[in-house]
Amino acid sequence: LLPTIYAITPTYARWTQKADLTRLSQTLLHVKNFHWIVVEDADRKTLLVTKFLSNCGLKYTHLNAKTDQNFKLKDSDPNWLMPRGVAQRNTGLTWIRNNISPQTEGYLYFMDDDNTYDLQLFKEIRTTQLASAWPVGLSGGLKFEGPGFCKDGKVLSWYTAWKPERPFPIDMAGFAVNIKLLFQYKEAGFSNATPRGYLESHFLTGLHLTINDMEAKANQCTDILVWHTRTEKAKMKQEDKLIKLGKPSNP
Ligand code: UDP
Ligand code: MN
Repeated sequence: LLPTIYAITPTYARWTQKADLTRLSQTLLHVKNFHWIVVEDADRKTLLVTKFLSNCGLKYTHLNAKTDQNFKLKDSDPNWLMPRGVAQRNTGLTWIRNNISPQTEGYLYFMDDDNTYDLQLFKEIRTTQLASAWPVGLSGGLKFEGPGFCKDGKVLSWYTAWKPERPFPIDMAGFAVNIKLLFQYKEAGFSNATPRGYLESHFLTGLHLTINDMEAKANQCTDILVWHTRTEKAKMKQEDKLIKLGKPSNP
């Protein structure tokens, strides 16, 4: 029996959305016993994502949850100004708590839609007992951030340069937890009030975890199996002109 990996992916409408989702889904097609929970940042499910998911070939659940307007980034805002993916990840967590039996064996992993994942990562996730961690490439303003020194499969220190006082100085892509923790700590989740850089720490401390619980994966955390890549915003100068003229390219 191969327990299921439940992955929550927030996603929002932008020019590169379908490209990002295509790239990610075609990685995930290589992963067995995988359940993709895709949560749109929207008032209602869009046709684009609905059609995309129905053709993607993966086992999935399609949800939506709009980010509160007070916490929504404007086009001109730097992306660090607001926490991203909060309402969507919470909606995914609620779905798991309401639709999966607490006895289910499985793992929870948060997958942003524009990261890059090595398939080996999913094998590592499936060796998690309670909670596991590994470094994330191109993260924290460094080549990698997350677990530092590891020994005998345990994380002993963190490697980070920014806000090192965080309980878990690690990217959202750098940890997985046993799904049973969600039923044990029903309040654990995300909040828009969390200070910058503390989303991961807030969630993991909400599950009553500390560094001592973190199992070191990816070759004692010396391999990079996931990168915090970020898709460049599409340059749409000509398309924008056509849209203003009411003559956009063929939809
Ligand atoms: N996201 C969202 N709504 C937003 C901005 C981002 O749902 O208004 C999602 C996005 O699709 C991604 C995750 O939240 O899955 C993290 O956002 P992003 O990749 O933009 O953040 P960064 O990688 O720059 O930290
Ligand atoms: Mn991203």
